[in-house]
Amino acid sequence: MKGEETEVELIKEGKRLDGRGFEELRHIKIDVGVLKRADGSCYFELGDNKVIAAVYGPREMHPRHAQDAKMAVVKFRYNMAPFSTDDRKRPGPDRRSIEISKVSREALDPVIMREYYPKMAIEVYAELLQSDAGTRTAGINAASVALADAGIPMRDLVSSVAVGKIDGEMVLDLNAMEDNHGEADMPVAMIARTNTITALQMDGRLTKEEFERGLKLAMGACHQIYELQRTALIERYSKSENKKEEE
Ligand code: UDP
Repeated sequence: MKGEETEVELIKEGKRLDGRGFEELRHIKIDVGVLKRADGSCYFELGDNKVIAAVYGPREMHPRHAQDAKMAVVKFRYNMAPFSTDDRKRPGPDRRSIEISKVSREALDPVIMREYYPKMAIEVYAELLQSDAGTRTAGINAASVALADAGIPMRDLVSSVAVGKIDGEMVLDLNAMEDNHGEADMPVAMIARTNTITALQMDGRLTKEEFERGLKLAMGACHQIYELQRTALIERYSKSENKKEEE
């Protein structure tokens, strides 16, 4: 739970400490199909966050008693590398990573056409190489692109970003300093094209007006992220088409 007061000054002369405006995203870089052994993959950078998502499947679900006779089971594993944080992160799952894995799976679930693959498993991994707050949103963005790269039938892409409150102002896409010393943090995931929210969490307190303003900010940013995800996928597949033509 966030503190009620900010003890560090996070806004100076109308700018955030990293020079961004209140409604500005960090830089985003997306590379599709970066792993040879995975069925689909994506490298995603959001400022200083670096994540690789890998998708395997659809493949046979083990253990068999966990199969769903009507549709595929989606497994999501969010994991932070020991070297991804300031202090060495103890390897292996903890409460936080189990929660983020569950939330991320639920954020993606509405777009995956699981009914096409009864009794099968679709495995999604989000491996954090470097973290600077917003890692769950970066993981969801990467996983969404990796699922599309794996050729999993999807209704659409999911895009995700966090908004929050620092020094009494609603701002987009908190970095770690802002997340640690801010008053509230609200990660949102959505299907941008239809404005359908698939996940929303909140740490801290917001008034109704702040919540509404934050949601509007997040929705606008998810539209921007959606366009970047789409462009990265189109570029990747137009490249492979060109390659085929050359051969
Ligand atoms: N963090 C860390 N060690 C941990 C967990 C988190 O250093 O064991 C840092 C990391 O930079 C992370 C940030 O705290 O990105 C915010 O974590 P939070 O739980 O709010 O999730 P996130 O914003 O990354 O989705």
